Amino acid sequence: MIDCATIRDLLPLYVDDVLSKESKALISGHLATCESCKNEFAKMQSEFAKLPPNDGAKIDVLKSMKKKLFKKNVMVSLGSIAVLMVFALCFIKWVLLPQTSIPYENGLLRVEVSTTKVSRDANGYLMVITDPNSTIIDYVERGVIDIVSSRKTANRSSASVYLEENGERVQIAFVNFTESLLSKWEPGGETAYAVRIVEPQNSQVLAENGVDVEWEVFDRIEVYYINQQISEINAERDYVKLCNDGILIWSGSLD
Ligand SMILES: [Zn+2]
Repeated sequence: MIDCATIRDLLPLYVDDVLSKESKALISGHLATCESCKNEFAKMQSEFAKLPPNDGAKIDVLKSMKKKLFKKNVMVSLGSIAVLMVFALCFIKWVLLPQTSIPYENGLLRVEVSTTKVSRDANGYLMVITDPNSTIIDYVERGVIDIVSSRKTANRSSASVYLEENGERVQIAFVNFTESLLSKWEPGGETAYAVRIVEPQNSQVLAENGVDVEWEVFDRIEVYYINQQISEINAERDYVKLCNDGILIWSGSLD
């Protein structure tokens, strides 16, 4: 048997008619035999009947439930948008933007020897003519070798090694072009790049002071295309391997 205290606890739910069949039967059984609980039930029932059907308390519960549901939907939507944005950013960063090395192919680059940027003074010294459009001289170009790509590449890089070989002064330049999936569609993208061979000595200071530079002309210059990004290599240390792995594009002297 259930005691009266438990019955009283359950009565509001009984009045509200939200109990299970079994619980209801249990309470009906008790009410049939217990006068005091029966009175309590009658009182509760009449109070409940007095409440208007659209009782404020009932509506508030409904409203707050709707609000919660709406909030939840908004949060889910915002969450989805955030996830999509993260995916989009990852796609751009890891798929569209990464620069990959362009494998060598015939005609990918050619070497042009020009003397337009260098002239000799009366003493036979080479004189530097820097870019007239540039106010900053960040380096001085020898300006005698242009390495040009006909392909629309996004980036190019180069590194040079200067060494003596069998009594010859040799300059070895390594060149690499990279592109991304976006390179082809980049507005205003260049279709060719020129890579200049840069004098290794402190020509910046000399140029800034307006001093004519006596260039040390190399006996031989070699230009290699390598199938990896220059930033990943140490040309000074790895030049023998790079020469072996690379493709010799041009070899000659400037005289
Ligand atoms: Zn009772």
